[in-house]
Amino acid sequence: MKPSSSPRHIDESFAGKNKILLRGTIVTGRDFWALGVTLLLIHTPVILFSVFVCPFVYINISPAVVFVFVYLYLLCVFSLFKTSWTDPGIIPRNLDPIQPMATLGEPSSSSDLVDPSYYPVSTYPGMKDVLINGVSLKLKYCDTCQLYRPPRCSHCRQCDNCVENEDHHCIWVNNCVGRRNYPLTVYHLYLISKNMTTHEQIRSSVNIRRAPHPFNLGNFAKNLMQFIARPKPPSYIEWRKIHEHSSRMTSLPRFKPAFHQEQEPTNL
Ligand SMILES: [Zn+2]
Ligand SMILES: [Zn+2]
Repeated sequence: MKPSSSPRHIDESFAGKNKILLRGTIVTGRDFWALGVTLLLIHTPVILFSVFVCPFVYINISPAVVFVFVYLYLLCVFSLFKTSWTDPGIIPRNLDPIQPMATLGEPSSSSDLVDPSYYPVSTYPGMKDVLINGVSLKLKYCDTCQLYRPPRCSHCRQCDNCVENEDHHCIWVNNCVGRRNYPLTVYHLYLISKNMTTHEQIRSSVNIRRAPHPFNLGNFAKNLMQFIARPKPPSYIEWRKIHEHSSRMTSLPRFKPAFHQEQEPTNL
């Protein structure tokens, strides 16, 4: 007889809406049609160029042009799939679970029912304040993931997960873009110069009272160095063990985000 916590397919056990393949080697979204459109838009001009232009260029100009073209094409496709298939930095659920309300038992008299102190106060968590580089930030509680979102973390509605440094959800790469799979584009170079995510840039542009951005290190070179020199952190989730658990709300953290290890992080 199977135990109640018998292993299930990893895709069934994971609480978010991502598609998990090869025991967590591939963590991607479910908008495969959009990724197909992206591949079509890349490959249509690539095929036309290869068939009608490359032979002429190879013979009459230089084979080097064709080699550079092939290199750029492979780099483009590799980067696309690397971004599409990498865990963007999903935060494990239930790091700050809501405590169940205390059971008060049967009222001993009718006066209990009119006494406000008889009823339990809500245990719904409020916001938390943290100080980062001298700027006070409010940490919101995510009731879906049951955790205080670390600074710069957002909940993705498409993937249904909290993602660290979530820039945005990109349907064209079929995944969130976060701390572990940040791609480089011209627009993102602009954001990197300010050390901002897309979410932070949009919030700052609509906010009349602009608060200072505590993650800006002061100049483009420092912000760029932090982006390209920062090692990719390991995934927060123990993907290879997740299928052994039966509850979709089970948290399987390999380790916790910095915010949960330190009371007052000052340099994230
Ligand atoms: Zn969340
Ligand atoms: Zn997403």
